[in-house]
Amino acid sequence: KSKEAGRNSHHFFEQSMLNAVIQKHQLVEDLRHSLANDHFELYYQPIVNLLTNKMCKAEALIRWNHPERGLIPPNEFIAIAEEVGLILEMGEWVARTAASDLAQFKKLGAADDFQISINVSPVQFKGHGRWILDWFKYTEALGLPRDAIIIEITENLLMESEDSVRAQLTKLKKRGIAIAIDDFGVGYSSLSYLQKMDVDVLKIDKSFVDELENEKNSRELCQVIIMMAHHLDIQVVAEGIENAAQKQILTNAGCEFGQGYLFSKPLPIETFKKQYFIHSSPIDLSLI
Ligand code: C2E
Ligand code: MG
Ligand code: MG
Ligand code: MG
Repeated sequence: KSKEAGRNSHHFFEQSMLNAVIQKHQLVEDLRHSLANDHFELYYQPIVNLLTNKMCKAEALIRWNHPERGLIPPNEFIAIAEEVGLILEMGEWVARTAASDLAQFKKLGAADDFQISINVSPVQFKGHGRWILDWFKYTEALGLPRDAIIIEITENLLMESEDSVRAQLTKLKKRGIAIAIDDFGVGYSSLSYLQKMDVDVLKIDKSFVDELENEKNSRELCQVIIMMAHHLDIQVVAEGIENAAQKQILTNAGCEFGQGYLFSKPLPIETFKKQYFIHSSPIDLSLI
């Protein structure tokens, strides 16, 4: 009997592995199809000046509008897109779409120094990086300065990347792009890189902001990070601010920018435009 059960569970194991392979294959096929058919959208989440409560930047966050499954969040497909190389095409779409969206926001009255940030996978900086030169031309044609779009790279991925990726980034940095380090504070941070790469923005990770109210150590560490960043002339954005207490602690620590549900969730572009640009008076988020 036990032999029988063993065989069954063995069979079950094979079957579930097979299912996983089939599912992944299907996902990759769907991604490919959706890239060809424009099934992706960028949502925009405001980044707010914590002292004035006014939006001064926004982060573009990709959503997959799957024909059958509806809206799928990036955590369910970015890693696979990176694995099979589709991130290159997807990343180019994100960069171009964000650029034309920003040009549109400017027409609707966004301030001259209003910036959009996009998430870029280090995979996209491997090799010749031809796409970025084409993208530069595209942004120039739209009349955007080179630092109007901030490139967010996660701290961990940056540290794990090959030297060539970091070299490529340094080169682009010299050509005027703006760089943000995403999810800062949880991975293995290399402080020397912040300086070497001439980083523009440092984004304190949400998991870290979550602990501010209850952990004295987190508050102190946060103060040190903010002080150090400002000393290096780097702007600080705190991610995932959900309540007024967190906001208060961050402003007390000298943090200038914040992003999170306290201010706004990521919004579909039409809603974002209506809320922030089309109705002329800027929304005062301090009322929240
Ligand atoms: P991220 O770049 O760190 O983006 C912030 C994430 O935190 C977003 O999740 C945002 O919706 C969420 N968030 C913001 N404020 C709050 C808050 O107050 N509370 C909570 N619970 N969550 C908050 P999202 O949009 O699901 O994106 C997840 C991750 O997927 C991003 O993390 C980024 O690493 C990646 N991603 C998103 N768009 C792209 C893209 O276009 N390209 C690439 N390569 N990666 C992307
Ligand atoms: Mg990000
Ligand atoms: Mg982040
Ligand atoms: Mg994050």
